[in-house]
Amino acid sequence: MFEETMIRSLHVRSMTSGDLAAGHDHGALFQSSTISALLEGRYDGDVTFEQLAQRGDTGLGTLDQLDGEMIALDGRFFRAGFDGSISEIEPSTATPFAVVVEFDPDLSAEIRGSAKMAAVLDQVGALLPGDEVCALRIDGQFESILARSVPRQRKPYRPLVEVVASQNVFEIGACHGTVVGFRFPEWSEGLEVAGFHLHFIDRDRTIGGHIMDFTLEEGTLTAERSSKLEVELPPGVDLQCGDLASEVHEAIEQSERPA
Ligand code: ZN
Repeated sequence: MFEETMIRSLHVRSMTSGDLAAGHDHGALFQSSTISALLEGRYDGDVTFEQLAQRGDTGLGTLDQLDGEMIALDGRFFRAGFDGSISEIEPSTATPFAVVVEFDPDLSAEIRGSAKMAAVLDQVGALLPGDEVCALRIDGQFESILARSVPRQRKPYRPLVEVVASQNVFEIGACHGTVVGFRFPEWSEGLEVAGFHLHFIDRDRTIGGHIMDFTLEEGTLTAERSSKLEVELPPGVDLQCGDLASEVHEAIEQSERPA
């Protein structure tokens, strides 16, 4: 059963995992579950990477039991383990939270000159003003990246804020690589991470993670705007966003937002 909702300017279509075999809108972002559900400790996935691959080739997320950070690029799905080391994900593995898109950028820009993450994201904001949802990637030479990954969890699951307290934060030195992620408007918080949510993987596919900060030497930004989001809701998970309790806002702030 599909349900269609407008959340401000975002057309949201929600479904169960049983609906995933049905056709989908190629211009829509696809998401499994919600960030609020992940914050509550729902780390058992009910969408497989095989299913996810049919919905998008680019994106980010995590794995079953919160077993690392996920990076999707060019149709391949990578896991950055607790130490940041990369392995390719088996199609039968499930994900409790992921956002992907069939990336077809409508904007491209060169970013020249060494710049900190905040300055790069300001440039992205200038190129893509307003409230729009967008998927983006930055391919380039990086001076450094501050990243994190999370340890695999066992039941009973702890809330994400507690898990993040034991996250592994590590610095990746100069390398060529790709930042991939999304920008969602403030009012989508809870359904998604509002603002930028970015993951990194190096070109040699050896190291990556959830980005806390970076310094870019030079690179190419590509981005795709979208006003449509398809969301798979596991049993008991609601579409939740907007008017969140301050504790939820604080939890997203602590666990997901780049530094
Ligand atoms: Zn992340």
